[in-house]
Amino acid sequence: MQRNYSEFSRHRIIHTAYSIPILKKVLLIYTGGTIGMMEDPSSHTLRPFDFKHLTSQVPEIGKFNIHLETLSFEKPIDSSDMNPEIWIKLASMIADHYENYNGFVILHGSDTMAYTASALSFLLENLAKPVILTGSQLPIGTIRTDGKENLLTAIEIAAATDDMGLPRVPEVAIYFEYKLLRGNRTSKVSANHFNAFSSGNYPLLAEAGIKIEYHTSSIRRPSNGPLVIRKQFCRDIAILKLFPGLQPQVLDAFRSIPGLKAIILETFGSGNASTESWFISGLHAIIQSGISVVNITQCSSGSVVQGKYETSTGLARIGVISGNDMTTEAAVTKMMFLLGNGMRVSEGFATDLRGEVSLG
Ligand code: ASP
Repeated sequence: MQRNYSEFSRHRIIHTAYSIPILKKVLLIYTGGTIGMMEDPSSHTLRPFDFKHLTSQVPEIGKFNIHLETLSFEKPIDSSDMNPEIWIKLASMIADHYENYNGFVILHGSDTMAYTASALSFLLENLAKPVILTGSQLPIGTIRTDGKENLLTAIEIAAATDDMGLPRVPEVAIYFEYKLLRGNRTSKVSANHFNAFSSGNYPLLAEAGIKIEYHTSSIRRPSNGPLVIRKQFCRDIAILKLFPGLQPQVLDAFRSIPGLKAIILETFGSGNASTESWFISGLHAIIQSGISVVNITQCSSGSVVQGKYETSTGLARIGVISGNDMTTEAAVTKMMFLLGNGMRVSEGFATDLRGEVSLG
């Protein structure tokens, strides 16, 4: 096996009949999740096992012509315990090892994977290498596991380069069940199916069949600057999901949350909400107290268009900011990122920072 490790800057080599193939380096970061769990024989609940068992469960890894190194969280977590501090830790791990690897694979529980992918996309400014998150619905040791294919293909994608030797997917993406999706466009849509993720407002970045078909025109090209990581997230936000029958006291309760800086408002259809006067005036009072309100749709595809129906005209009038076609996961993490870094919320949401929104 050729062990000629290289850094990204040396990849701009077109392979000719005379060139020596360069072994790609991928860093696999294990955070936890079902992929690395086993059933506790007495309680029958799933709990994390030692990462060493994960790699021994997938001997195929050794057959790759890829130099793989692994890092594991000391205490693997179920992704329901994920939080902004861990996102920053993950971004720092990538930044610390950035120059030494061609790509990164993060093994993560599927439940909050779309939040982590969105958060990392904002934290890693000028990212020019693949950061591929994957996991599984069934533990890797089980016979029908989806984890093996997800893991092996994610590694292959993280190492993949084009004819110029440049990374094929220089962005944060989720690979699951033969599909590669932009991380900050993705939501988990099934608790049972292997096909658990969807990106209703953005095309697939790649599809894995006999070959991996990259949809190059949908993949973000990196900007030229050096990787910058911003290490601030503000947690003083809340989500308010509308439903017919919402009571005025719910709005009052949101308004009285100490230190609240922003609300992600999940509305109906193309950004519609009740036109009842208590609702509009209550929301107006919230905005006037300095809390930003961003409107995103509860639908899994399509966009908010404030003013399309009379039921959203009032929202625009009182200063609700349109979140356009963003996912909840992207809106939440973008809000935390903007507030954490002292950026203006209205300007931030009117700007496409990392391919997370369609504007115009
Ligand atoms: N509860 C698990 C987690 O998100 C589910 C999974 O890994 O798919 O960590």
